[in-house]
This record gives sequence, C-alpha cells and structure tokens, in this order.
Amino acid sequence: QTSGVEGKVVLITGASSGIGEATARLLAKYGAKVMLGARRTDKLEKLASEIRETGGLAEYRKLDVTDMNDMEMFVQHAEEKFGKVDVVVNNAGVMPLSLLEERKMDEWNRMIDVNIRGVLHGIAAGLPAMRRAGGGQFVNIASIGAYEVTPTAAVYCATKYAVRAITEGLRLETEKEIRVTLVSPGVTESELADSISDEHARAAMREYRRIALPARAIAEAIVYAVSQPEGVDVNELVVRPTVDA
Ligand code: NDP
Repeated sequence: QTSGVEGKVVLITGASSGIGEATARLLAKYGAKVMLGARRTDKLEKLASEIRETGGLAEYRKLDVTDMNDMEMFVQHAEEKFGKVDVVVNNAGVMPLSLLEERKMDEWNRMIDVNIRGVLHGIAAGLPAMRRAGGGQFVNIASIGAYEVTPTAAVYCATKYAVRAITEGLRLETEKEIRVTLVSPGVTESELADSISDEHARAAMREYRRIALPARAIAEAIVYAVSQPEGVDVNELVVRPTVDA
C-alpha cells in the first residue's frame, strides 16, 4: 500500500502540531522526503531532528502561509534540498469560533487569510514546481465543516466550503497531469481549538471535542491518497470518529 510514498518529496504546511505533524512522521516513516513549514520553527526543528534520528529525511523552513513570498521560498527551499516537488499538503488552518454577532472581524480575516488564501498560495507556488517535476499531487485539508454549518462556525465553515470548491476547481483544471485530493477530518486531537478566544464557543467546543480521532488517523488517510499507483486519483476522503458528538 505504501510503496508509492518512498522517495516522494512532500511539502507539509502547518507541520508544527496536530495533523500536519502526524502526517510528517508517517510519510517520513514510509520513506518520503518531508519539507516542514509553519511559524513555530522550534517545533519544526525538533520534529525534523526526531524524524532524522529514526532514519527519515526531513528539512524545515519558517512559513507563514498568508505570505505568498514566504510560500514561494518554501517551495524553492524544497527544490534546493530535495531536487523536486511531488506533493503539497495544504494543511495549515485556524479555527477561532464565535457567533457572527460578536463581530470578531480580526478573527474572520485571520481564518480567511490562513484557511483560504494559504491554500491558494500553496497551489500558486506548488503548481509550477510540479509541472517542472512532470506531475504531482495536492492534498488539501478541509473539514466536515466543508459539508455542514454549525452555530459559531459560520466563517470557519465558509473557509472550508471554499477549500472544497477550490480543490474541485483545481482538479478539473489539472486532472490530466496533477492528482488532487480533499481530506475532510471530523473532530481530531490537535491544538486547533486553542485558537478560540470566545468563551462560550470554547466551552461548547471542549464538550464537542471529547470524542476525537487521533491525528494519526488523518495521517493514514493522507498516506492512502499519496501512496496510490500512477493513474489513481483519490478525490475526496471524509474521516469521522465512530461516535460523532
Ligand atoms: P493545529 O492547531 O494542531 O495545527 C494547525 C497548524 O497550522 C499548526 O502547525 C500551525 O503552526 C499552522 N498554522 C497556523 N497558522 C499558520 C500560518 N499563518 N502559516 C503557517 N502555518 C500556520 O490543528 P490541526 O492539526 O487540527 O489542523 C490542521 C488542519 O486540519 C486545519 O486546516 C484544520 O482546519 C483542519 N481540521 C482539523 C480538525 C480537528 O478537529 N482538529 C477537523 C477538521 C479539519 P504555527 O502556529 O507554528 O504556524
């Protein structure tokens, strides 16, 4: 199942915690060369050295996905270190939930910048590199919030609906040469809920998040999509915990 991962150069945004971190560990274990990106470089450095200690190949670079120039440098760094780009996992995301009436415009903007613009930047920087490599794959991380909306999550869900739409558009435009996969997790253990500043939304989320998937479960879904033989494009994976709150 995992033979298709060996030797692939995989760029992962938001690799400093949660799903991105678990994905980096698992892909590296199966022989991928992973390029880790996020803002917290202390975490990336630690992860990269842990991967190397267990025989894997990992590099990292400070990355703010809201900055297109940063994203270009991230892709360039991967090409310099590993010679090519095979896969970009657009995973970085934030989820500061609140009711619309709270008018938390800064948080709305941050979700739009990271969750939507960040994915667009990853596509814009990654696509030319994949074309240079003669093909490639995008794995974009949406959410079950890309299919259903809940109170306090209107803007977050809007960003994830957008990721789903962008991913489908990308697939239709590039389907002959680039594989495009949308992975939509249900509640998963990570630091994601830490970005909620609104007290009520935070309390509700704490209850909702009691039943959560390990981040490794989403990493397994990503490995499944990346490991498929040439000509097989896994378009969409939705992964929920068995008992959904
Ligand atoms: P975490 O908070 O643990 O991880 C989010 C990652 O995104 C961190 O590595 C963080 O790194 C990075 N990040 C945030 N802002 C930026 C930025 N501007 N530039 C670069 N990196 C950034 O949460 P998850 O692992 O859960 O989240 C990963 C993805 O999964 C997100 O897209 C999220 O929406 C999605 N998801 C998660 C679910 C869950 O229940 N956990 C459910 C559905 C979807 P740093 O702060 O170091 O920059």
